[in-house]
Amino acid sequence: MDNYVKLYNEEFGMDICSLKSLQERAINSIIKNDVICMLPTGYGKSLIYEILPIVCREKLKRDACVIVLEPLNVIIQQQMLKLGSKALTLSKNMCETWMKRLECGDCSYIFCHPENIIGEKNIYTILSKKAYSSKLVFIVVDEAHCVIQWGLEYRPIYREIKQLRSVLPHANILALTATLSLQGQKELQKYLLMRNTDIIATPPSKDNISLIVVPRPFITPVQKTYDYVFQPVFLELKKKGQDFPLTIIYCSGSMDWVGYGIEVAWKVLGDDMYAGEKKTENQRVVMYHSSIEKGDEVKKIIYTNLSTNPSESPLKIVIATIALGMGADLRHVSQVIHAGPPKSMEAYIQQTGRAGRDGTQATAVLFWNKSDIGRPDVTQAVKDYCRNCDNCRRSLIDSYFGFGSASSDKNVPICCDICDSNLKNDWLFTPPLNSLQIHAIRTAIQSFVKIQKIQISSMCVESLASNASYYVNAENILKEFKLSETIANALSSIISQLLEIQISK
Ligand SMILES: [Zn+2]
Repeated sequence: MDNYVKLYNEEFGMDICSLKSLQERAINSIIKNDVICMLPTGYGKSLIYEILPIVCREKLKRDACVIVLEPLNVIIQQQMLKLGSKALTLSKNMCETWMKRLECGDCSYIFCHPENIIGEKNIYTILSKKAYSSKLVFIVVDEAHCVIQWGLEYRPIYREIKQLRSVLPHANILALTATLSLQGQKELQKYLLMRNTDIIATPPSKDNISLIVVPRPFITPVQKTYDYVFQPVFLELKKKGQDFPLTIIYCSGSMDWVGYGIEVAWKVLGDDMYAGEKKTENQRVVMYHSSIEKGDEVKKIIYTNLSTNPSESPLKIVIATIALGMGADLRHVSQVIHAGPPKSMEAYIQQTGRAGRDGTQATAVLFWNKSDIGRPDVTQAVKDYCRNCDNCRRSLIDSYFGFGSASSDKNVPICCDICDSNLKNDWLFTPPLNSLQIHAIRTAIQSFVKIQKIQISSMCVESLASNASYYVNAENILKEFKLSETIANALSSIISQLLEIQISK
């Protein structure tokens, strides 16, 4: 296979060293029959179909065409950039040149949304011609879990992909996914009319992501319970600045919490919201939801920042709905925080899998409370996973995806908060202060300022009181305000004494 990799590198300007064992197995298998590849995010699933035309040409002396069905534009765009002139995209209004290339089969890769191929009679006619019947054709269903998850409501066309079986009877189907339960694997075969299916899979939990689950208090108004997640994280960002690990905070329940999160960020960070000059590109915290998905400019800034080395990027936290990240190569994310539980274990694995893609140690933290897991849209498996306090989280996940004992054989260094309860410590936040507590601290600071005759604005006093836990550290006071060291030490000791009383209450 090394020879094919070399040709691949030359053709597309890549620098892959060699194929991983399961990539190799998938390539050998798809030439003969249908394949489901369930491999973790970042394993390199797309390389399997990218290299396929080269393998067919060199090994089988046959031309090949790979038709790739993708759910989202962002992946198609990335792949088109990578594969250049060998690829084309099907759309409702294709230019004449591309139409001609399509007709004479002058392409190794065809990318499209299922909506642009399924049921399109003129495309079916083209694909039935000799240009395609004489070639080896492969149908790749990327993010194949969509067939099951989206089948009925959102994108019913996913259930019609099977039509391609009669249009291209000689084509083999390669279904790619990161996450499919045992039950899901069976359903997928049924919906895609797959035959002699080879299932190639690894346990879905990645070894370099430690899994932590933390209960959030059940209090009203609901915002308060989200403060438990947002406030400490933003305070930490304020403290660490550029050293803060690149983080995605998923708000699965509702888009409202994305908006609320950004509100809290502005409150806590103030001018520290920007790294340097106050302009959008320098913002440290941004939000991402479906309307941003449509607006190309902001989306581009976010994705570029997320795939840039964090030491060079100002962006540190993206507060997002599930719209963020499917299939996109977000190389340097090292923390994924769920402000509330996702709907399914599949979604949980996809979303946590966006951390640690560069191979470094990463963390996934899931917050939940009893109101969250009362939601009817949250699956039983997620509820059980949240409530679990006995079993290794990794082994729970692996067995859900059909890998009974696989994880107990693994030796994962930093596994989960059940295997090592210390992992939880960093995430057991002290409750955010309520208005009465802030008032008490404010009053104490005000009288100290008065007695000592210190020149300090009321806005500074306000900031000291509302971000009290940050200013327990006198260095932070020195950094933010023009005060002497003695005064800063005195203020920090007042704050910490008051906080101690508050917390011990
Ligand atoms: Zn564990």
